[in-house]
Amino acid sequence: MKIIDNIAELKKEIALLNGSVGLVPTMGALHNGHKSLINKSVSENKNTIVSIFVNPIQFGANEDLDKYPRQLQEDAKLCESAGVNIIFAPKVSEMYGDDKNNLTLICPPYFAVDKLCGKSRPGHFDGVCSVVAKLFNLTKANKAYFGQKDAQQLFIIQKMVRDLNFDIEIIPCPIVREFDNLALSSRNQYLSTKDRADALNISKALFNAKKMVGEGIKQTRAIIDASLKIMENLDVEYIEFVDKYTFEFQQEVNENTIMLIAARVQDSNTRLIDNINL
Ligand code: AMP
Repeated sequence: MKIIDNIAELKKEIALLNGSVGLVPTMGALHNGHKSLINKSVSENKNTIVSIFVNPIQFGANEDLDKYPRQLQEDAKLCESAGVNIIFAPKVSEMYGDDKNNLTLICPPYFAVDKLCGKSRPGHFDGVCSVVAKLFNLTKANKAYFGQKDAQQLFIIQKMVRDLNFDIEIIPCPIVREFDNLALSSRNQYLSTKDRADALNISKALFNAKKMVGEGIKQTRAIIDASLKIMENLDVEYIEFVDKYTFEFQQEVNENTIMLIAARVQDSNTRLIDNINL
């Protein structure tokens, strides 16, 4: 496995690869969620490239860019044992030059970003699309693997690929959870014991919603009320229901509904997201 931090060397190595290339874009601090994407790529491609880049242009001014966990050595061990060929871990200046405030950006359409995470994180998805497009161009990957944990991101990337004719197949991968259903996230490292216990109520609300739907309840209002009760110890940013194909909001659940939650735990003020297919 090669660990590469510059674009010239990456291009050289990629030119030497034979066979299909799978790309797994990440911000590092790798966990079993990332590992499931990597495993899928390794099983489906001759070569797998994992990018590890804490992308500054997708963070807002008051967000956790500086404290975001960076642990390249541990990440490299996980990648090596999973059969990754190349880790691409560039510095910010390698990706963006000296002026990351004056870049050509890819801006997804208003209807896709004026809701959910895009609403509370203005510019976030411009940053995500722009870095992902650069990684697609640099790696020339045949397939790229994204987690359903970031459902809005996955929807937006799939749309970008269609709209801009990227020659790449996007492979959605299911959410990996801990034994008690907490969705794995690099940000779980921030949680105190109390925070972690509180954070569990996010997945509890989602699984309870699925149970309610199984019992015949279709009105999202009733599900929201029950969810707010379960999450009363959290600062809930949103509980929303969208059609998984269009990301339009829904008042009534049907077979295409995804329920999405963003909430903050109180000790560390960590913002967590999760979702479920209803
Ligand atoms: P991140 O490093 O948080 O930017 O995530 C990199 C990729 O891993 C994204 O496609 C995420 O959706 C995916 N991912 C993160 N957490 C999970 C999880 N618990 N299950 C599945 N995929 C995940």
